[in-house]
Amino acid sequence: MIIFLSEGMSSAHADEMIKGLNDFGVTAHRTVFGDRQVVVTSIGKPGSRPDDETLQAGIRSAYHVERILVVDTSCQLANRQVRPEGSVVRAGTFSVGGGHFGVIAGPCTVETERQTCETALAVRDAGATALRGGAFKPRTSPYAFQGLKREGLKILAKARRLSGLAIVTEAMSPEEVKLVEEYGDVIQIGARNVQNYRLLEAAGRARKPVLLKRGFSTTIEEWIMSAEYILAGGNDRVILCERGIRTFEDYTRFTLPVAVIPALREMTHLPVVVDPSHAAGRADFVLPLAAASVAAGADGLLVEVHPDPKSALCDGRQSLTFEEFKRMMRQCTDVRACIG
Ligand code: PEP
Ligand code: MN
Repeated sequence: MIIFLSEGMSSAHADEMIKGLNDFGVTAHRTVFGDRQVVVTSIGKPGSRPDDETLQAGIRSAYHVERILVVDTSCQLANRQVRPEGSVVRAGTFSVGGGHFGVIAGPCTVETERQTCETALAVRDAGATALRGGAFKPRTSPYAFQGLKREGLKILAKARRLSGLAIVTEAMSPEEVKLVEEYGDVIQIGARNVQNYRLLEAAGRARKPVLLKRGFSTTIEEWIMSAEYILAGGNDRVILCERGIRTFEDYTRFTLPVAVIPALREMTHLPVVVDPSHAAGRADFVLPLAAASVAAGADGLLVEVHPDPKSALCDGRQSLTFEEFKRMMRQCTDVRACIG
């Protein structure tokens, strides 16, 4: 059960409600959703607490309550019922969800100021609304390039000043969340960290939106539970990003499950972005996968673009040239116009 307190109610009011609920044998969690105090009851065993109707009547008579939602799945604050119209997540030039289409483009990793700034201007001119680029890189091999770290964040901040584009960049630890918050606009949590609960809690405390990628082998349900951690921590600006899952197929780097788009649309109000670059693992498949995602109703795209993919320090094989990105944008715009 999700209880939204009336406007103007404070955390003290919510705590008082939780005490009252505890007296009825119900445990609950307090958080903030938008500008409202919210109490989410834990999912108890049937029969172990008063039935929902009695509980609701008691809550309504004792506290200032705006709305109570009884959601019978583990997907609580992320549930579509919470915001049937869909959430819009905004960060500077970047808006996504609720009819806003967001395009995040840029290199896999920040290599130099020139590479990052050139890419920022090129993707902006082609229609991207945010710049991506990793400063902290989760690499499979400890011997591979690990990113420029804080230096990389400073370069991204320069690219934002130059291009005006919002910055999307990854954090892998709670300390990095703080740094990314300082320099960037959207905190990316990568596939490998989707179930790193301390990191998700740190993202829940952050004051910037979070782009949460799906793990290689996380089910939709597990992925939404990870988003639920961020929401439960008080950050309601969460974007889900499908980036391909691991299946028996190894012809492509991962497998893009397009059905995830309508499935998430039904289950949750959170915006859904698709990353065709990591799914495909090769540049020539990025355009068709991007077009398919747009046709299936994605709220946005995240695409790797590099001035010279052959020389890229990371993920060059799947990175588009500026020309290829322009072509992809034209085609995706046509597909959007076509499906209406
Ligand atoms: C990335 O976006 O460069 C990245 C590391 O992605 P993922 O976490 O999806 O592998
Ligand atoms: Mn990459």
